[in-house]
Amino acid sequence: MAIQSVGVIGAGQMGNGIAHVFALAGYDVLMTDISQEALDKAVALIDKNIERQVSRGKATAEDKAAAMGRIKTTLKLADLGKTDLVIEAATERETVKQAIFEDLLPHLKHDTILTSNTSSISITRLASRTDRPEKFMGFHFMNPVPVMQLVELIRGIATDEPTYQALVEVVERIGKTAASAEDFPAFIVNRILMPMINEAVYTLYEGVGNVKSIDSAMKLGTNHPMGPLELADFIGLDTCLAIMNVLHEGLADTKYRPCPLLTKYVEAGWLGRKTGRGFYDYRGEEPVPTR
Ligand code: NAD
Repeated sequence: MAIQSVGVIGAGQMGNGIAHVFALAGYDVLMTDISQEALDKAVALIDKNIERQVSRGKATAEDKAAAMGRIKTTLKLADLGKTDLVIEAATERETVKQAIFEDLLPHLKHDTILTSNTSSISITRLASRTDRPEKFMGFHFMNPVPVMQLVELIRGIATDEPTYQALVEVVERIGKTAASAEDFPAFIVNRILMPMINEAVYTLYEGVGNVKSIDSAMKLGTNHPMGPLELADFIGLDTCLAIMNVLHEGLADTKYRPCPLLTKYVEAGWLGRKTGRGFYDYRGEEPVPTR
């Protein structure tokens, strides 16, 4: 089946990037969220981000006009039932994702491929609660989606070969590179990245370093483009905590216990850049470390 139309669920950091990339690659995109404000913000941000690509010569004004014309939004999840491929990119909470798929199922075409951009939740378990586990996959984009080259493709235990191949083709068409991962907690990238970020938070919690020294040490000492705490703020501390919990529970190993300081920041609502404050305070001109 040729995929022409894509439904994106969740218009947050990831949803808007996914809609951006698919629209530029020529797919019709229908994006939904529970918040009209999130949808409006996402469309405005996509416009701004494609404009930046135009100014850098990476896209033309015609490409931009065509891409923006391909993006539609709706508050009705059911409207996505007629799309060929659904990419769920809502909040990283299993109950939220399960409820979305349950609500969507009665409206879906029989051959629509269902995917989740989850960073860590079991694809097999999400798939098992749908009517099409063989047409269900993990489709894990990296943040920011228009910039990052990698997409992780995760097959659930029941995913069939045509579904996998269809997604391999989609990844090629959007100009990205796929890495296949088995369906175990947090897959490849976050299985390795999140324990490092969590350890950076422990390093802060135990007073081994402060925010600035930890980030400088990792940037200059290991050639990482961003420090781990800066990166955590960029990802969202709620998402980081959710992934650590999935690793901790899914692998039953205490080495994955989330740092209490990470939990405290999330409880404070200091979720990083998206809320204006995390390990850095972004409300002024320059980010200021909060510890
Ligand atoms: P976000 O908080 O920026 O956005 C989540 C969006 O989902 C919000 O706009 C929210 O209103 C919406 N939403 C919540 N419940 C919904 C529902 N029932 N129906 C429709 N929309 C709903 O989060 P994000 O960073 O974009 O993360 C989204 C997903 O992508 C998560 O599964 C996360 O693990 C994954 N992910 C995140 C990153 C990252 O770096 N942030 C990277 C890769 C994957």
